[in-house]
Formats: sequence, structure tokens, C-alpha cells
Amino acid sequence: MIIRKEYKFYAAHRNEELQDKCRNLHGHRYGIVCHFEVQRTGSYSTLFSDFDEKIGPFLKEHYDHGMLINVHDPLYATLKQHMEVHGEDFKLREFQGPTSVENLAYQLFTDITEMGFELVRLDVQETDTSVITYDREDWARDQKAQIFSSVPTADTAH
Ligand SMILES: [Zn+2]
Repeated sequence: MIIRKEYKFYAAHRNEELQDKCRNLHGHRYGIVCHFEVQRTGSYSTLFSDFDEKIGPFLKEHYDHGMLINVHDPLYATLKQHMEVHGEDFKLREFQGPTSVENLAYQLFTDITEMGFELVRLDVQETDTSVITYDREDWARDQKAQIFSSVPTADTAH
């Protein structure tokens, strides 16, 4: 049986790898649709509130009105410096690679799976007309490819 749950959050980001408009700082209303495999025991499987009590607050705390930022993007260091100098505390959701919607799907799939839910598919909507569908196989492939740890770090770059 599959339970589908929908969430949304607003976040800023940019894609520093691209030379088009996506390089600019901008924001999205991200819509996510989670598909969970659940086992029925008696009248219930997993209660809808079990998802909402964990996933809703997690997204609110770590993603909503935050900035998705690649720690290898030079802008990251600039923002950290700004925070230190001006005593401001921006909500930065740190990524070990570009904040593409594919990488966001990988990160969210990891986050939600680590909460103990059996996520089988995740749809991530970045714009009104663009949605990616990311499933367990995609996640396994990305984990195996170590998509984030394959990005050169500051330590290995020099
Ligand atoms: Zn974007």
C-alpha cells in the first residue's frame, strides 16, 4: 500500500555551475510529494500524523525560508563571513554539491529515509511546470556514485 503526502517550503538558491539566469540568487516554492510504502496492521498502517509530526517540522526548521547552498560555492564563504561580521544568522541548508533539483531530491530522500520512513518515490516540483520524480533506484544509484563526496573539497583543491 502506498500513502502519498505533500509538503512545501520556500527557499533561495542559485546554481553556480550554470551561466544562465539560474546563476543568479533566486527562490522557489518547492513542492514535494512523498510516496511511502506502508504495511497495514488492523485498520491502520502509518497514521498521516506520524508523517506530519516529523517531516513538517523538519522541513520548516531546515529548509523553509532558508538558502540551499553548495559549500564549495565561493558565495558560501562570503555568506559565512557576512554572518560573522554582522552577527546575522542566516538559515543555510548546506549541500556538498550544486543545489540542483536532482541533488535536492537526493538530499530530501536521504533526510526522510533517515527518519525511518519507507520512502519509495519522491516528486520535487521546482516551478509551476517542472517536476522531477525520484525513486529508490535513483537514490541507490546516487549513493553508490557518491554524488556529493565526488565533488572536490577545499582540502583537495589546492
Ligand atoms: Zn532555481
